[in-house]
Amino acid sequence: MERTVKLRVEVDHNTYSALKEVEEEYKAILEDTVNYGLKNKTTSFTRVKAGIYKAEKEKHKDLPSHYVYTACEDASERLDSFQKLRKRGRSYTDRPIVMKVTVHLDDHLWKFSLSKISISTKRARVFVSPTFPKIFWRYYNNGWRIASEARFKLLRGKIVESYMVFKEDDPKPYEPKAFIPVDLNENSVSSLIKNKPVLLETNTKRITLGYEYRRIEEGRSTKDREVGRKLREKDKKLDVRRKLAKLIVLEAYESRSAIILEDLSKRAPEHVVEDVKDEQLRSRIYRSAFSSMRRAIVEKAREFGVPVILVDPSHTSTVCPVHGTKIIYQPDGGDAPRVGVCERGERWHRDVVALYNLRKRVGDVSPVPFMSKESHDPPTVSRWLRAKSLHSIVIEDKMK
Ligand SMILES: [Zn+2]
Repeated sequence: MERTVKLRVEVDHNTYSALKEVEEEYKAILEDTVNYGLKNKTTSFTRVKAGIYKAEKEKHKDLPSHYVYTACEDASERLDSFQKLRKRGRSYTDRPIVMKVTVHLDDHLWKFSLSKISISTKRARVFVSPTFPKIFWRYYNNGWRIASEARFKLLRGKIVESYMVFKEDDPKPYEPKAFIPVDLNENSVSSLIKNKPVLLETNTKRITLGYEYRRIEEGRSTKDREVGRKLREKDKKLDVRRKLAKLIVLEAYESRSAIILEDLSKRAPEHVVEDVKDEQLRSRIYRSAFSSMRRAIVEKAREFGVPVILVDPSHTSTVCPVHGTKIIYQPDGGDAPRVGVCERGERWHRDVVALYNLRKRVGDVSPVPFMSKESHDPPTVSRWLRAKSLHSIVIEDKMK
């Protein structure tokens, strides 16, 4: 886990101009390196460094050589993210442009102490003494360690803005006492909490579709509007994912459970969002709804030391967990497209069956509630964003 803390301090003229020199030369190296990467069609740090290191060291004789090294890392990251943008058709220029420069530092280029931070420059080390914000002390006093990499940026008015990275070692996963299966769907996430299914609406599909459809309706929109909208769409989804991941992981953590997730590499995207015809859009929904949600859960779980078990999801929604027989869904969907009946007459909600089956796959033999007439309908919770815990949602539902 990593957190970045921003520190600002006003420095004297000499310090500022020493850092300014570094910044200018760093920028020149960065530009050369980016050009080299483009020309040689590589984003690899090792390859760009091998290509430019000697020449740049020669060109910038007085500059500590580690700046060439960190500029190569910086360039490699920029080239890499530019390539990713271009692949998705989201780059607005034909090459990455170095506009804002934040100088990257490694452990040779800066030293930290509470009274001062020293930074190597062309002449000698300079010292800055920032005041530390509250958030700094929170990490500093709670067992986080300061990473060896840092960055600084120069602002107007002789202000140096530095970025310090705090790292915390992830806790070791515990031995699980129980299991919490989680089933990801295109607009909901379902889970079994205290043996009771809950289905939380996420509306990822709606947000994604809403964006695509608006774009089609309005025809070619201006770049600015486009960018703004993309960001809002991204923000909303990120917010939903983070909150949901946290709710699930906290629930698992408190009950010392492991989270069971589907191994999505074994699940075909077509099968999941088959009602969306456009192929590109379908894969977009698939990516955003599943991969990122899953990643959010896995990352949060690592932070808390909650074990995550991946299981093969094939047939998890088509086999009755009580009788082991096949579940038949209405081929045309009917008015309850997600409800199916097993060959022995048990009615199942698609997302709920998957949960019991996922749990069975890790060898959990907890009894599956049996109801021969009712379907196992999960309570659908659309306003869960403010819930403090999944447990409280289940209790509220029981009191209705
Ligand atoms: Zn059955």
